[in-house]
Formats: sequence, structure tokens, C-alpha cells
Amino acid sequence: MPIETVPGAWVNKRIKEDEITKYMEHGRDFIPDDEIAFKIKNAPKDPAPQQVRDILKKSMAIKDLTPDEVAILINVKDKSLLEEMRDTAFKIKVKIYDNRIVTFAPFYLGNFCVNSCAYCGFSKDNATAKRKVLNEQEIRKEVEVLAGKIGHKRLIVVYGEHPKNDVDYIVESLKTIYAVKVKTKNGHGSIRRVNVNAPAFSVDDLKKINEAGIGTYQVFQETYHKETYARMHPVSTLKGNYRWRLYCMHRAMEAGIDDVGIGALFGLYDWRFELMALIYHTQELEKKLGVGAHTISFPRLVPALNSVITPDWPYLVNDEDFKKIMMIIRLAVPYTGMIITAREKASIRDEALMLGVTQMDASSRIAIGGYSDVVTAQEKNKQQFILGDTRSLDELIRDFAQKGIITSFCTAGYRCGRTGKCIMDLLRSGAEGKFCKLNAVLTFQEWLDDFGSEDTRRMGLPLIEKEIAEIKAKNPKALDMFLQYHARIKKGERDLYL
Ligand code: SAM
Ligand code: SF4
Repeated sequence: MPIETVPGAWVNKRIKEDEITKYMEHGRDFIPDDEIAFKIKNAPKDPAPQQVRDILKKSMAIKDLTPDEVAILINVKDKSLLEEMRDTAFKIKVKIYDNRIVTFAPFYLGNFCVNSCAYCGFSKDNATAKRKVLNEQEIRKEVEVLAGKIGHKRLIVVYGEHPKNDVDYIVESLKTIYAVKVKTKNGHGSIRRVNVNAPAFSVDDLKKINEAGIGTYQVFQETYHKETYARMHPVSTLKGNYRWRLYCMHRAMEAGIDDVGIGALFGLYDWRFELMALIYHTQELEKKLGVGAHTISFPRLVPALNSVITPDWPYLVNDEDFKKIMMIIRLAVPYTGMIITAREKASIRDEALMLGVTQMDASSRIAIGGYSDVVTAQEKNKQQFILGDTRSLDELIRDFAQKGIITSFCTAGYRCGRTGKCIMDLLRSGAEGKFCKLNAVLTFQEWLDDFGSEDTRRMGLPLIEKEIAEIKAKNPKALDMFLQYHARIKKGERDLYL
């Protein structure tokens, strides 16, 4: 189906050059392609064990690694050193985030798009894509399933770039999502935090989105390598402007958005370069805006309808390298959230838990209207790309519980103002854990009572008992308040947090 023609005036006023140049230094952006390539090429090919161990010690002390140190870790090939890296990554995850994991669902609202990304099923060149933007009633129907049947509390909403799903539509859709309250056996289900994955906007547009009350604003650079970027995103398209996208997190923070999520689409170019560039990006945000990325995503390219990327594309990332990427991110920015999505198969996601990942989606559907009966089964198959892990939220939570991992539905931080620099400083110091553990247990109990199957409750409830014993031993000051809240939740009160 040919996509509708977009008025030139809409396209022309989109990119504001002054909102790029104001952040640049001496006419240069913060991704020095040659310097990154030089560091990768000149890092020791077989780093000495002591050198690697010194770096791991620094990570364990919750200090950022420098790009040179990251380049050294990239070159580690020795099996036992890789094992030490893996162990340290997991220890850091436990030190900062304990045994908690956060779950969410992707929610695709509109796939009209003016861009021609070579890898994406929503590209305007994909004539077979069924284009749709959900209306208010359809959004409600979707949220009724997400919040009322599955029990999600967090979403990441996803939009193409087009006047039909532009900023005003985004703002309205956010209001609709937050307003849905679905009756459940113990009260109501609702979405408490909506993160947004959307195009690169101007400061004014980002202010509007921020006012609608979002969690994290997420935009992936896809590839930081300029030549590859130009190959993947024709310069004649909006997304073809590399620097407009590169500086969108600067603009987001200027617009008042505290939590920003960056990412690279691994598989477009050399993973070593992309990994280094992600570190440059988060460190640039910290340097210029006082706080680095709240989350880092590392989606791996998967086959999509009409994608021009073929199976012999030279930069596709194999599983071993992908695991190395995850552990190095955890070691390089020890306190930053790490997201792995259901693009990956279950076995990789299970391993990712041991490498430092903190957030995962579940029960995911990525067709527009894929959760309710808004679209037909055939349309549901025409999604952006193919999913690798189709486990339901209930199944995933049961699998986590079996491993001693507690699923946190806590959204208190964002609603109490523990965002941006405040949350990052708390995480770095280890103090955030005190709130998180308590809220994780409270929200886990709530979810198990409202949505857990018998099998999942059987696995989850003993875990809660274990957690309470730990709170008694390690956080006695908070115990009384916590136990009161816990008892109230068991009686049916909802959305209590500390
Ligand atoms: N249109 C917005 C944009 O491009 O930023 C947001 C929506 S876009 C669908 C969300 C993300 O999906 C992209 O940033 C890209 O990283 C990812 N994506 C697109 N095609 C993909 C593919 N074939 N495999 C894996 N991820 C893909
Ligand atoms: Fe459009 Fe985003 Fe897909 Fe590119 S990745 S075609 S901008 S939806």
C-alpha cells in the first residue's frame, strides 16, 4: 500500500540547525570516528591479565571506564579472563540492582513513516506494510489487555515519523494510556510509567511530550559510524540527518526530560566501534548535561519484511560477541540500566541476566493493535520484525522466580522525583537499593495476587518470604513501615510505595 505523500512544509520545518550546532564544539560532534578506530586498532591485542584485572577492580568500585579501557576489554580473548569479566559483570549487577529485574511491554501505536531505514519493516519503501495509527478507542482496547489481563505497569510506546503519528498524537495517546483503569479481582490494573521510543524531536516538541508525563525518552542512533549511517538512511530523508539524531538527547534534557535512553542497532557496522561510541555518547551527556544515559539498549538486527540486509551482511553479530557486548557495557557504566528485548531468543535472554541486564519485555506483540482484536491474525503477522522470545509475562516471572530473581513493578522513583541525576547518584552510591528492594517486594506481591497463575504464585510467594527475612536482617529501620504496607497490599489495597 503506497504511503501517503507528506507536505513539504511539514518536512522542512522539522530540523532546526541551531539545535544541532549549539551543542557542537569547534564545528565537530562528539563521535570522533578516526580516534575510535585508532583506539580499537592500537589497544593491546592480547591484554595482560593484570591490566584486565585492574580495569575490573575499577568497575567493581562503580567507576566509569575510559574508552581506552573499553578498547582493552574488547580485545580480551583468553577464556579464563573472559570468565573473570563475566563474573565481575554479574557481581556489579547484584551490587547495584540486587536480584531484581524490571519488566515492560512494547506498544506500537503508529507505523506511518516518512523514512527509508534500510533494515526496518516500517520504511516508506515497504509497499506491503499495512499502515495504521490507533485511535483513542483502539488504544484503550490495547491497554485493557496490557494492564487488565497481562498485568503490565510499564510500557515503551513506539511510533514512526509522520504527521499522522506526530507529537500532538503522541501527547494525546499518552493521556489516553494513563487514563485507562481496568477492574481486576482486587481493584484495578493501570499503566504507571510510559517510556517513549520515537523520532528525534525539537526542544519545543520534547517539552510537550515531557509535560504529558513520560518515563524515559529513548532514541537509538542505530549506527554511530557516519558512512554506514548514510548508507542505511538516505540523506534525502529526515532520519538521514546524523547530527539531528545524535543531539536529540541533549535537546531532551534541555526540554526537561530527566531520563534518556540511548542505543545502537548492533549488526549494521562493526560492533566494536558501536560499543565504543555508546560509551562516548553517555560520557558526553554526563559531561555536558550533568547526567549520563538512564538506560542503554543494544538491539541486534533481526530479519524484517523487505529489509535490504541479507544474511551475508558482514557485520551481523554472533552470540559470543553479543554476550561480550553486554558484559562490557555493564563493566563500563556499572550503574546504568540495560535493556534486552524479545528480539532475542529465550536462551540468550536467560544468559543476559547473568551479564548485567536490568530490564526485559514480556508477552510482547509488535504489530499495531497486536494485543487486542483491533487487527486480524494475518495483520498481526505483518509486524516490524520477527520476535525471538514469545514467553508470556507470567511464564517469564515464573522462570525468574525459579532462579531467585524478583520481578519489580516499581514505578515509585519516577513518581517521587527520583529521576535523572538524583537516581543515578543514588544508584552509584548503592543507596537506591534500599527503596528498590522494598518497593520491588510490594509490587511483586501485588502482581502475584492480581495476575499470577497458580504455578507462578507457587514459585513467587516463597521468594517473597525470603526477601522479607532479608529486609528484617538488613534494613530493620524500614521494617515496620514495610510490613504495614505489605499487609495492606495483601488485603487488596493497590499502588502503595515508599
Ligand atoms: N521511528 C522511530 C525511530 O526510528 O527512532 C522509533 C520507532 S523504530 C520502529 C524503533 C527501533 O526499532 C529503531 O530505533 C531500530 O533500532 C529498531 N529496529 C528497526 N528495524 C529493526 C530490525 N530489523 N531489527 C531490530 N531492530 C530494528
Ligand atoms: Fe521509520 Fe523508525 Fe522504522 Fe526508520 S526505524 S523506517 S524511522 S519506524
